[in-house]
This record gives sequence, C-alpha cells and structure tokens, in this order.
Amino acid sequence: MQDNNENKHLDKEAPSLFQMLKSFTKEASKFIKAGVPFVTKEDYADRLDACKTCEHVQKKHMRCGLCGCMLQFKARMKTADCPATPSKWKEQILTTEEQEAAEQAAEESRKNRGPIIS
Ligand code: SF4
Repeated sequence: MQDNNENKHLDKEAPSLFQMLKSFTKEASKFIKAGVPFVTKEDYADRLDACKTCEHVQKKHMRCGLCGCMLQFKARMKTADCPATPSKWKEQILTTEEQEAAEQAAEESRKNRGPIIS
C-alpha cells in the first residue's frame, strides 16, 4: 500500500504518452543509426539499479519520470543516457563510428523537431 501512495505522487509528474513515444523514438533512432550497440550486462544491471533508487522513476511500469522511456529497453542502449543532471548512469565510450552515427542522428532529430505542443 505504501508503494501505491508513492507511485500516486510520481504519476503526477509522469510524462505524457506523447512525450514517452517522442523520447523513445529519438533514442531508438540514435541506437539503430549507431549500429545497435548494447551496453554490457554489468552496465545494464548498474543502470537499472540506479533507476530503482532514483527519485524520478515510475516504479509501477519502470518508466523514467523525466523522459518517459521504458527503462528495461532504454538502459540496454549504449547510445542512451540518463536525462538527470548530472547523469546517474556510468558514461559509455562509443567507438568512432558509433559516435559519428549518434551525432548525425541527434542533428537530424534537431532539424526535424516540430513545434512544441503543450
Ligand atoms: S534514467 Fe536517470 S532520471 Fe530516469 S529513472 Fe533512471 S536514473 Fe532516474
């Protein structure tokens, strides 16, 4: 019961479905364009551990309360980062090819960004 009360508080700040899809699509695009680089099993476990104790996590669905992404998927992507400042995830070192592809995807995403809908 105490968990439900905690989640009610967290649900108030949950990103909308639109925001979740927008964030996840952007992350998935970056990930695919970089050649689908995964983090190691150890880093994946460390990322989820960080999320489980984070004040922003939506525990019921393991969604990030800042970007809205489903963490079991996002945390596997080497190109993805924690949106908190500072990041709560260990820095990942991308290969030159992965880095260039991720930067190109980020630039394309910025160019294609439409007007902000509130
Ligand atoms: S991705 Fe970062 S901000 Fe989001 S729940 Fe995990 S640790 Fe928290």
